[in-house]
Amino acid sequence: MMSTAEYLETPEQAAGRALAMLQQTGGLSAAAVWIREGVVWRQLAGSGAAAGLPAADALDKGRLPGPDGGALELTAAGQRLGWLVWRGRAPETVADIAALLAGHLYCAALRDEQAAARVANETMLEISLLAGEGDGLERILPRLHKLMSRLMDASNFYIALYDEECATLRFPFYVDRHDPAPPASDSVFPVNGANSSLTAWLIRGGKPMVLTRERILEICRQHGLAQPLLSASFWMGAPLVNAAGNLIGAVVLQLYDEQTPFSSAEQLLFMFAARHVGFALDRVLYRSQLERQVWLRTSELEGANARLRAEVSGRKRAEKFQDVLFRIAELSNTSLSLEAFLSGLHRLLSEMVAARNCLVALYDTVNDCIAFPYCADEHAQSLQPRKPGKGYIEQVLHSGRPLLIDPYGGDAGAGDADDGAIRPKSWLGVPLYCGHELLGVLAVQSYESDVVYNFRDQEVLEFVANNIGAALARVRALESLQLAYAELEQRVRERTSELDAVNAQLEFDSLHDPLTKLPNRSYLSKALRRAWDAYLAGNGDRFAVVFIDLDRFKLVNDTLGHLAGDHLLFEAGARIRACLRHYDFLARLGGDEFAVLMFGMDAVDECETIARRIVSEFERPVILAGREVFSTASVGVVLADREHYRKAEDLLRDADHAMYCTKQQGRQGYTLFSHQLRIDQADQLALESELRRALEEEGQLIPYYQPFIDAGNGKLSGFEALVRWQHPQRGLISPALFLPMAEESGLITRLDRYMVNAACAQLQAWRADGQVGEDIALHINLSSANFHDPDLAGWIGGRIAHYQLPPAMLHLEITESALIDQPDTAATTMQALHGLGVRLALDDFGTGYSALSYLHRYRFDVLKIDQSFVFDLDRKEESAAIVRAILALARALDLDVVAEGVETASQLAMLREMGCAKLQGFYFAAPAPAWGLDWARLARFEQEMRDAA
Ligand code: C2E
Ligand code: CA
Ligand code: CA
Repeated sequence: MMSTAEYLETPEQAAGRALAMLQQTGGLSAAAVWIREGVVWRQLAGSGAAAGLPAADALDKGRLPGPDGGALELTAAGQRLGWLVWRGRAPETVADIAALLAGHLYCAALRDEQAAARVANETMLEISLLAGEGDGLERILPRLHKLMSRLMDASNFYIALYDEECATLRFPFYVDRHDPAPPASDSVFPVNGANSSLTAWLIRGGKPMVLTRERILEICRQHGLAQPLLSASFWMGAPLVNAAGNLIGAVVLQLYDEQTPFSSAEQLLFMFAARHVGFALDRVLYRSQLERQVWLRTSELEGANARLRAEVSGRKRAEKFQDVLFRIAELSNTSLSLEAFLSGLHRLLSEMVAARNCLVALYDTVNDCIAFPYCADEHAQSLQPRKPGKGYIEQVLHSGRPLLIDPYGGDAGAGDADDGAIRPKSWLGVPLYCGHELLGVLAVQSYESDVVYNFRDQEVLEFVANNIGAALARVRALESLQLAYAELEQRVRERTSELDAVNAQLEFDSLHDPLTKLPNRSYLSKALRRAWDAYLAGNGDRFAVVFIDLDRFKLVNDTLGHLAGDHLLFEAGARIRACLRHYDFLARLGGDEFAVLMFGMDAVDECETIARRIVSEFERPVILAGREVFSTASVGVVLADREHYRKAEDLLRDADHAMYCTKQQGRQGYTLFSHQLRIDQADQLALESELRRALEEEGQLIPYYQPFIDAGNGKLSGFEALVRWQHPQRGLISPALFLPMAEESGLITRLDRYMVNAACAQLQAWRADGQVGEDIALHINLSSANFHDPDLAGWIGGRIAHYQLPPAMLHLEITESALIDQPDTAATTMQALHGLGVRLALDDFGTGYSALSYLHRYRFDVLKIDQSFVFDLDRKEESAAIVRAILALARALDLDVVAEGVETASQLAMLREMGCAKLQGFYFAAPAPAWGLDWARLARFEQEMRDAA
């Protein structure tokens, strides 16, 4: 199909025809037609000596051809298109012909413009479509260049893309006639004075630029840009912008020909095209970025997937190993013989490795010999033990490492297959260890060429081997154990009958006390429970529980020795037994404690009768080591009672408590547990917490002072501090009522310190008032519990210093019990106290058994004769004899003596006559608080004594 343009005359044809018409009708010697194309002129047609005619630019300046010629300007639609110029005589129609030609030329120009516009349009469309074709940048850019070349001279053309993040330019497409190498990537905002390119300058400006060489050089100079090596004559660049208006790069055209600058139409078209290129490239870039992301993500996922798969298979493998491990453990526990264990193991192994042929070799170190407790082989019989040779098994044994032979060398020494037998193709053996001991070898072999062992199989085999070493040892041990068992069973049978006899004895022993042969505590518990259950059920008697404790048993034991103690216990058991009926149950609970279940007791008075009998049984002395010893008993009784008890053990507990009450009331006697006691028990607890509080407050615990009088001259010679408790509700309480509780609860040490402190303070006050001189002694009682305290002497030393007392004024009173309880600590503590310079007094002297031995062992300064001797001094010759003996002893040992409990004038007279140095007792004064001391009365004794004398 022909285009419309082909019908129509070209401008040249039209001009040629117009000149021919003028030639026909007139006498022209030369003629020419000029047309303006852009800024230049072109001769469209010429006839005759056209070269002699003035050119179009001359015509423009008004130079006409002269009188024998003429020129007409070709205009149409007000546009100046060109010139018609001639020489000679022109026909009259020349103006018409010129108008016609102008019309033609105008038409042709319009036609060209239209064609160019169509090309431009089509090109823009194609540029737009480029992005949609899915090609990469490297394919699209050359095509883009081609399309640009359709529109204008694009022989020097490049595209720069802007990476906003790094602020750099790269040049994915670059053609230049004079400079074939594209620039390296370029920084848009160079730092440290580096020069940037013109393109970067364009990007920074964000506006299109059309520049001449001069302008380029000027800009480079002005703005410090890099001078191009060979600057183009003309430079035209436009920023590339995406649909969102963001800068993505630049497109640049350059011309080196000085004559042809960019026409305004070209400039317009370029800017227009740049817009399309921008959109198109943006889409391509976006797509490739997207593709890249998808690719990245995909490969990430693939990586993760591969890892997961590896993990899963690793876990499966681990699970399998774990499972095998369990089964090996199970096998070793359930297999009755080594043979069974090894064949089970072979089955297990076959699940993981091609192990049709498997053998276990064990090395016997004692006989230097290899045995084969297991051998399963397609082509070999069971193997006989042999001496070590040069085989693979020996190699493994020797190196202690796995050995993988592939292909099998067929070493004759291997011994795994006898000569002439079929050789295996592949062999794998691993050492068997138990701990660090090499036991033997586990090996598999294959006769098929498609079964070839590798390192993975070795790993499995090693794993199994590692885990059967111990099991193997166990199974082997089990086997020998079984033999031993059989032998043992026989011996056990023999022994059983012997044991039966011993057991009977043991059973008796377990329920009886070896010393007295009486039932022991656990037997009593059983009997008590049985009696209680029967009583509750209504088919048993009501019964009583009696608790008996020997008074001062410890003293006997410590002073007369254990043999004497044992004798006393034996005697005590017999005495108690003598008080009971044959069906009563007597037990020794341990130490010096006995208990009795008395059956058929319906009332308290029946119990009382027996309790009294027991107590009186102990009033007779026991002869121990040739000495008469009085060991009294404290008894507690409780009657079984459905109303108050839930458990049998509670009866024993209350009987114990009743016994304890007896002790508190001065021992030797009995107490029937009663409702009142139960209340008292609670009362004791309340009292304890009240004492605790009293120790923290001032004014509840009050030291009373009882004076000592010098028996010679009646002068005051000292005081003993005795505690009283001024209880806010209960009134004044004597120490007898709360000291046992204080001892029991451990509060006694705090109480003693309280008293030491208070007494020292009082002494300081008396001294300050001039009430007493330095010859006065202040006695303070110390419980034996204090001897547990290594700090005691230090603390007392501190008090003495604090109150600035002469240490010798202080006398600490100690009873024998402190010395019995802790003889060693007592010695150290007493030494430390002596070191301070304080004095020590032995209290209640004469009541113990071994006071004499203490006097030798420890250093005392004062003896206090117990009041029980003073009490019947004037009535009982025995007491007088004891006091006389004590006084003689004291004189011999150079000790001071105080007689306690002097109540009457006759006691006073006797003691004076006997030569007792100091006297204490109600006769002179009862203990009184410091403010209640009658100093005047104390002073009078001096006179009285003198009078008496
Ligand atoms: P003790 O050390 O033998 O004290 C002498 C006891 O005999 C005192 O009883 C005293 O009041 C009493 N007494 C004094 N003269 C006579 C008398 O002529 N006739 C009679 N029948 N008794 C007399 P108290 O004060 O009731 O103290 C009893 C026991 O409590 C003391 O016996 C002592 O062992 C202990 N005690 C008192 N105060 C303390 C103290 O602060 N600490 C310690 N650990 N024990 C103390
Ligand atoms: Ca005392
Ligand atoms: Ca005393």
